[in-house]
Amino acid sequence: MGNPIIATRAPGVRVVASASTWIEGEALRQLDETGALPGMRETVGMPDLHPGKNGPVGAAFLSEGLIRPALVGSDIGCGMALWQTDLPLRRADPERIAARFDGLDAPWDGDVAGWLGQHGVAATPFDASLGTVGHGNHFLEVQAVAEIRDPAAAARIGLDPARVALLVHTGSRGLGESILRAHAERHGASPLRADTPEADAYLAAHDAAVGWARANRDLVAHRALAALGAEGRLLLDLCHNGVTPVETGGCRCHLHRNGAAPADRGPVVVPGSRGDVSVLVEPVPDRTDTLWSLAHGAGRKLGRHEAKAKLKGRLRREDLARNPYGGVVVCGDERLLWEEAPPAYKPAASVIGDLEAAGLVRTVAVLRPLVTFKC
Ligand code: 5GP
Ligand code: MN
Ligand code: MN
Repeated sequence: MGNPIIATRAPGVRVVASASTWIEGEALRQLDETGALPGMRETVGMPDLHPGKNGPVGAAFLSEGLIRPALVGSDIGCGMALWQTDLPLRRADPERIAARFDGLDAPWDGDVAGWLGQHGVAATPFDASLGTVGHGNHFLEVQAVAEIRDPAAAARIGLDPARVALLVHTGSRGLGESILRAHAERHGASPLRADTPEADAYLAAHDAAVGWARANRDLVAHRALAALGAEGRLLLDLCHNGVTPVETGGCRCHLHRNGAAPADRGPVVVPGSRGDVSVLVEPVPDRTDTLWSLAHGAGRKLGRHEAKAKLKGRLRREDLARNPYGGVVVCGDERLLWEEAPPAYKPAASVIGDLEAAGLVRTVAVLRPLVTFKC
């Protein structure tokens, strides 16, 4: 009968969510529609599933013979990097940290070409934005350990509850957008046939954007650490938007992820919102039924416009600039205060609860936000 948390909607289309985790009807419609496209072998929606521009966000798609750039979306390589700093928690005053982050949204004045070179990434026309977090839901967050559930795993991963952690969420900025735009101009929403020059060219551009996004997260962390006067160690860096070739069950397939964290590359951090916890988990490996993937966050409950319209009258500006843990929100863009407000997202506990109930993860630690930087 399988796991009751994992529901089959149609042959090859599954969704991981308990009855108590709300998923918008439009997101499920998009999931079913995508799952019925030519060449689709398997489609899995995660509990953070929500509607997106070119298909649902919070999902993984396995296709045979075809690569679908639209399913990867425009922020190719977007992901989460978690760093352990050496800054003691007792010395981490949110207001002072927030003041130190002032100016982090300005272009980096260091050697951009050298930084990219160190990461094995070629120069692009978008390099002026390297080292900046970017707009929207991207963020830099200083976090404190709220709870360790598995001390042995936390120690193995390198998480130190006495010192602050840093979570960086950003992607390939204008570079990924330009790659999807170039594809759309030539092919519209059509897929690319695998093993053709067009597909190989897309994959090469995609891989370069994944490398650029990784170099970008590294530089954002480097700048934040310099601002804090701290040293850091990278615990994990995982991309949640991308496509990779996989061979499975005799199929030379392509696994697309749009807002899905890989479950086959070690520990994963699932962020909630700037007013919620983020959860460090260890995935249970080899889960082919969920396409080696996990939720990449709590997922939106309200669209951007909806969030602003609904929350503007309900939440005061002062409340939005603080989080429920006494932390601080630094946000240069007034609109984002509402669009990205915690009630715009599902509760992280509900998403993690589903992943646990489905047997996909074990929780290692819970982190809470001290300072969230968005611009
Ligand atoms: P994405 O933009 O990649 O689809 O969203 C990633 C996830 O990050 C969202 O689903 C949400 O749960 C989470 N998130 C968005 N903003 C913040 C924030 O400011 N802080 C934290 N900790 N998580 C956030
Ligand atoms: Mn992104
Ligand atoms: Mn992202």
